[in-house]
Amino acid sequence: MPADLVDEAGQGVGGSSETGYAAKHTPSAASEASLNTDKLEEVKKLFTAHLENKGLRKTGERYAILEEIYARSGHFDVEELYAGMKERGLQVSRATVYNTLDLLVEQGLVSKHQFGRNLAQYEKSYGYRQHDHVICTECHKVVEFCDPRIHGIQTMVGDLLNFHILHHSLNLYGICGDCRAKAEAAARQNTPA
Ligand SMILES: [Zn+2]
Ligand SMILES: [Zn+2]
Repeated sequence: MPADLVDEAGQGVGGSSETGYAAKHTPSAASEASLNTDKLEEVKKLFTAHLENKGLRKTGERYAILEEIYARSGHFDVEELYAGMKERGLQVSRATVYNTLDLLVEQGLVSKHQFGRNLAQYEKSYGYRQHDHVICTECHKVVEFCDPRIHGIQTMVGDLLNFHILHHSLNLYGICGDCRAKAEAAARQNTPA
């Protein structure tokens, strides 16, 4: 597999500690691009296995949707994904977008979030760091954070209650700094001098 070869080669590169340290601070765009290509190939392979397991057809549309998702960064809803594909001249039906997303979520290659709004938000999840979300209830901005203590809680609760925990969802809701500043400015304007 090409991915395995790259892994082997990658491990061999960290020879000199001096260059290794520098490399950490200035990752080359080329190495990052090849990393993403490998990741996409892995994801495609997993998706193929899933489709075969379920006896579903491996259509070009389904793979185009998967590629579009892994080319995106951040969160998106179904309509944004559909519009993005249409813009790039990719012909897919809305129904295919919906059912492919369902398959990807079911397999854990995409995560689905309900951020207190009607439309669900999605993001790619394979090979991306675990994270949780803070959501502004005013402007609906979503910020990601990563705290290893949450993973510790997950493990502890699983042990304590004899659950094999598969995943978790943690959303914190509040009002962001920008929205609070705006509200304060508006309040100052409305206060008679
Ligand atoms: Zn806000
Ligand atoms: Zn996220």
